[in-house]
Amino acid sequence: ASFLPPAPRRRRRVACAAMSAEAAPGVEPAEAEPVAAALAEMVEEAAVWCAVHGLVVGDRADPRSGMVPGVGLVHAPFSLLPARFPTSFWKQACELAPIFNELVDRVSLDGEFLQAALSRTKQVDAFTARLLDIHEKMMAINKKEDIRLGLHRSDYMLDSETNSLLQIELNTISSSFPGLGSLVSELHRTLLKQYGKVLGLDSKMIPRNWAATQFAEALGRAWAEYNNDSAVVLMVVQPEERNMYDQYWLVNHLKESYGVTTIRKTLAQVEAEGEVLTDGTLVIDGRTVAVVYYRAGYAPTDYPSEAEWRARLMMEQSSAVKCPSISYHLVGTKKIQQELAKPNVLERFLDNKEDIAKLRKSFAGLWSLDNEEIVKAAIEKPDLFVLKPQREGGGNNIYGHDLRDMLIKLQKEQGESLAAYILMQRIFPKASLTPLVRGGDCFEDLTISELGIYGAYLRNKDKVVLNNQCGYLMRTKVSSSNEGGVAAGFAVLDSVILT
Ligand code: ADP
Ligand code: MG
Ligand code: MG
Repeated sequence: ASFLPPAPRRRRRVACAAMSAEAAPGVEPAEAEPVAAALAEMVEEAAVWCAVHGLVVGDRADPRSGMVPGVGLVHAPFSLLPARFPTSFWKQACELAPIFNELVDRVSLDGEFLQAALSRTKQVDAFTARLLDIHEKMMAINKKEDIRLGLHRSDYMLDSETNSLLQIELNTISSSFPGLGSLVSELHRTLLKQYGKVLGLDSKMIPRNWAATQFAEALGRAWAEYNNDSAVVLMVVQPEERNMYDQYWLVNHLKESYGVTTIRKTLAQVEAEGEVLTDGTLVIDGRTVAVVYYRAGYAPTDYPSEAEWRARLMMEQSSAVKCPSISYHLVGTKKIQQELAKPNVLERFLDNKEDIAKLRKSFAGLWSLDNEEIVKAAIEKPDLFVLKPQREGGGNNIYGHDLRDMLIKLQKEQGESLAAYILMQRIFPKASLTPLVRGGDCFEDLTISELGIYGAYLRNKDKVVLNNQCGYLMRTKVSSSNEGGVAAGFAVLDSVILT
């Protein structure tokens, strides 16, 4: 997701030496002093660890930090301690990854389904309409993607009302933080090796996290399937990206482990420097592209002019492997998530009954707004719902009073405007007091956490080359904020400690 945060909100700053023992659950008050002392020491050690291990982002205080690598770095915001997470739910989430990977692939092959399910959205959402236009063009020429690469992240929260693991969404484009997420797990493991005893936390209970190397492996193997030694991976990026080091971790692994070169280009550069040869080869700046990996292109702001749309269409028309293809991208929309949750829809795409049951168990309530009863219920009790447009990257959902006002307004407009949104059951994770570190300062706040499980899928025609769960990302946010963007300044990167 993008990394252009608004100005930070003022928050209560806690001198970590005086930090309460509540931060380390299960520690008796008599032991509070050594705990507070340990936490205070840990803040500085952790910040140093980030600096020497590349757990860094561009600093918004430096205007060049989003453009020039190596300039204006600051440690990524992180939680000082890993988030406690029950082992059973952890296993459940990991098990779902390969099933969701397969589901995305199956749904992507059903172009008619995607077009039909999104047809009403298309009338009212210009951005989705543009994506659908590209998809329709590919259908018209019967474009086949033999090599299909998916790098996904399925996000979950633990709902305290129902005591269940529920999916928030499935990201099929630009799934962020595989690089930095792996590092946070390492940071926490390092800290707990030293301080675990006094904190009553065992470093061995932090699951290993290979998201960065596994995503690089998937990209490397997709590159190998394309079978052209002189070809490169094209990473499509935003012109300004403060989360570039997360991306460079993949670039680095690709080079070191697979000898594969990555070039970074914006959509505008792709349009200016790129062409598709008559045999379908994508050439950018004179280099053949084996794999297009999108870390941009998921938001309307990524397409400020027609040039960017021409670039997207050109890449789609080429024979390069696209991560994601236009079909994979569309499968990740909120509307498709809601359609897949309808009765008997999963059955159209998957055969294994147990797999279907596992997926369905993770689905929260999801509704289209042509359901008048639900719209009425949401107007009456807006706090039990989230209203979602077809957008990615955080900060787009509508809650509470705004949700009620919006629904009333949309109803009055009549027409199709309701079709731009879906309604989702609001999930209520249990809040806990957590020390968060941002800009070298430690703050204690009531937080809730969202677990993302990465999945990689690669196939070439009938051969499934990879279908893996590959690491995880915990994001912890202040519970008073509705949206949990790390980039947006309300959340921090975190890891998991199994309980
Ligand atoms: P995006 O694609 O923009 O990330 P999400 O569906 O992930 O959209 O929503 C953004 C954030 O909103 C989530 O990270 C989560 O914090 C919050 N959120 C989304 N859906 C729900 C829900 N059903 N219940 C509670 N919080 C939610
Ligand atoms: Mg998303
Ligand atoms: Mg999300």
